[in-house]
Amino acid sequence: MSKLHDMGMQDGEHWVAFYCPGCEYGHGIPVTGPRAWQWNESFDIPTITPSILVNRGSSNPVVPVCHSFVRDGKIQFLTDCTHKLAGQTVELPDFDPVDENQRSKSKLPDHLESKFEANVRAYQRRSRFRIIVLLVIAGLAVALALYATFYK
Ligand SMILES: [Zn+2]
Repeated sequence: MSKLHDMGMQDGEHWVAFYCPGCEYGHGIPVTGPRAWQWNESFDIPTITPSILVNRGSSNPVVPVCHSFVRDGKIQFLTDCTHKLAGQTVELPDFDPVDENQRSKSKLPDHLESKFEANVRAYQRRSRFRIIVLLVIAGLAVALALYATFYK
């Protein structure tokens, strides 16, 4: 058993997870790729930087806001956490991958959410563009029909 769980490659990024004793579920983060956290590559005495902010602004009301530093195998909870371990530093427990409770049930940590939101916005822009193209085609079809009607 070790403190970090190797989630392997997910969409081209290497992910690891730890069990958060404040939230009582796992937090997964990418450690390679453009949005990666820095990690000392230790599963037993992990250090991860920068801080990990989960559920900023309590966007999911059923889980706490959690803001922490993982350093030397310990987890330091900052005072903006809304769970019972706010302001405390505790030993990171071993991660048991068999325990369903240790799996992440949160959304992605915060700076990943903003990337997700950017994807949603890009999708909405593409949808708007499709609607404009359809309107232009419909307009041309009407113009053509009118032309055919009046210039027979
Ligand atoms: Zn947490």
